[in-house]
Amino acid sequence: MNFEKYIRDIPDFPKPGIIFKDITPLLATPEAFREVIDAMAERVKDLDFDTILVPEARGFLFGSALAYKLGKKLVPVRKPGKLPYDVVEVSYSLEYGEAKIQMHKDALSKSEKVLIVDDVLATGGTIKAIETLVKKLEAEVSGVLCLIELSFLNPREKLSEVKVESILVY
Ligand code: IMP
Repeated sequence: MNFEKYIRDIPDFPKPGIIFKDITPLLATPEAFREVIDAMAERVKDLDFDTILVPEARGFLFGSALAYKLGKKLVPVRKPGKLPYDVVEVSYSLEYGEAKIQMHKDALSKSEKVLIVDDVLATGGTIKAIETLVKKLEAEVSGVLCLIELSFLNPREKLSEVKVESILVY
């Protein structure tokens, strides 16, 4: 299936100069969403991991469907003030601004192997920050899986130590 026709470009969102990849048409097309989850599952079928880590908010959409399909543990990574228990935190810079993310401090065990799943890999800053959180808990990143990679922003330069898979590359 040509998934690209279900990804809409929105110019100047959320700031002037950014062309935002809108995945809502894909979510609104059940057969396309199902095929995309199947394609993502296929990509990681030989990867050794116990747990899927998902950043708020669009990572939740793809990562939770994948965790259901693959029977994996699911851990949310969230913006400050959202998680109810004790957290570990990291600050990082985004394609459009500054941000902080948190994870529960007991979310991962030592040496647990995780796959990070998100919708869009842009500068790679978000994934790099999640890697830092994972390392704080002495767990390991087995790989990164994204629906869309914006290769012109060179995210792989930041993520050279980890296996990165993406379904669509722009
Ligand atoms: P990065 O940290 O620069 O790699 O940006 C990735 C994060 O920002 C992901 O969590 C995405 O959900 C979000 N993001 C960045 N650009 C886009 C976009 O064009 N469409 C949707 N989300 C985006």
